[in-house]
Amino acid sequence: MTPPLHSPRAGSGVVSVAEAEASIRDALRPAEIVVRPLADAAGDILREPIVADRPFPPYDRVTMDGIALCWQRWRDGVRVFPVQGIQPAGAPAMELGDPVHCIEVMTGAVLPSGCDCVVPVERIRIADGAAHLVDVGDLAPRQFVHGRGSDREVGEVLVREGTALWAPQCAMAASVGMAHVRVSRRPRIALVSTGDEVVGVEDAPEPFQIRSSNPAAARASLARAGFHDVGIAHARDDVPELEETLTQVLAGSQAVVLFGGVSAGRYDHVPDVLEGLGVRRCFHGVLQRPGRPLWFGVGPDGQWVFGLPGNPNSTLVCLHRYVLPALMARMGVGPRPAGCPHATLARQVRFEPPLTLFQPVRIEHVPNGTCQAEPVSVGGSGDAAGFAESDGMLELPADETTFEAGRSFPMWRWDQPEAGRFAEVSGAVRVPVQEAAT
Ligand code: AMP
Ligand code: MG
Repeated sequence: MTPPLHSPRAGSGVVSVAEAEASIRDALRPAEIVVRPLADAAGDILREPIVADRPFPPYDRVTMDGIALCWQRWRDGVRVFPVQGIQPAGAPAMELGDPVHCIEVMTGAVLPSGCDCVVPVERIRIADGAAHLVDVGDLAPRQFVHGRGSDREVGEVLVREGTALWAPQCAMAASVGMAHVRVSRRPRIALVSTGDEVVGVEDAPEPFQIRSSNPAAARASLARAGFHDVGIAHARDDVPELEETLTQVLAGSQAVVLFGGVSAGRYDHVPDVLEGLGVRRCFHGVLQRPGRPLWFGVGPDGQWVFGLPGNPNSTLVCLHRYVLPALMARMGVGPRPAGCPHATLARQVRFEPPLTLFQPVRIEHVPNGTCQAEPVSVGGSGDAAGFAESDGMLELPADETTFEAGRSFPMWRWDQPEAGRFAEVSGAVRVPVQEAAT
């Protein structure tokens, strides 16, 4: 029997970009927490604060190789200070026996007691066991001394929960002795391509077939954002086969990303099969181009299910605009006021339809500090080769038709998939209640 043709969904249950984002955000569940060795946690999202276990720095730290002396004696006019000894880094503080003497000190050493001023080695002359302070200029008390606790006190938060562990944060964790850190568990993600015309990358396609490119695209961006636990499956446009594949992936993943089969075609079974398996539809259709047929729902065990339109460019748009920010939010990263970095449009773009346009652009950093976005012309949402010449896409809002050169818009970059975030909620975005699927 021929399956029924889906009714067009325009106007029924179709949401704006902001509503789609809000709907996904509403379905968020925070990721579980795992304890990981610090060495394996680069880029992970911290789920506990890093707290100073000692003052920062923990002792009055000498910041230059040179000599330490008593500033008052220099003030009194002493210019030749016999060297009492050497204070290396990693040794307990020596004590200055006689205040008209000095102690040779090394960078990182504790300031010897009785001393309150360091003079760099370049400014002194050592002769006959004494430091000669000629032409040293003015000396200030506490110069070249990084005072104990002057940066942070014990108990102060050094890095907040929800921060990504990049180099400076890993340095803080190491400094307070956190060999293991509590971070968000990264979800297991299933990528499912669909379509009778879609064959594997290593297969020789018949003249009426194409090789599957969407899983490769998704995998690249997921890996770049640190999501490596990714499985790949394929199902033909066949209800029992889809049911079997989706039952399996729902059982084994926290997030499922499907490609294709969500439009209004006769063989686009994905929405019905998902709902039949207990995946609750949150929205189907977003007022955007490309990627309008995007489907999103929540599985029986809270799994997120994204049904991305199969068009390669639609897939890229939906992946970067919704899937990756959703994954980052789930990991516990905070939203950003503007959602993601912005770039400046280098040339005017006109777009009449009342849809958000995701315009592929090439970017150029110019010396005035702006990121200039040059629109890349693509033949349509099927022109994946056009997208391959772009660095990312600008998000041009639905309620305007002319976008002048020089204006800035949100920029979603292929090489920084984790940089795109959901925007901070300002005012409630109402998500229309969805009708039951027909
Ligand atoms: P669909 O969303 O299933 O209607 O597919 C829309 C277009 O995307 C069709 O031209 C498909 O052949 C193509 N397409 C679907 N899945 C893939 C895939 N995995 N890789 C490349 N193109 C695809
Ligand atoms: Mg299809």
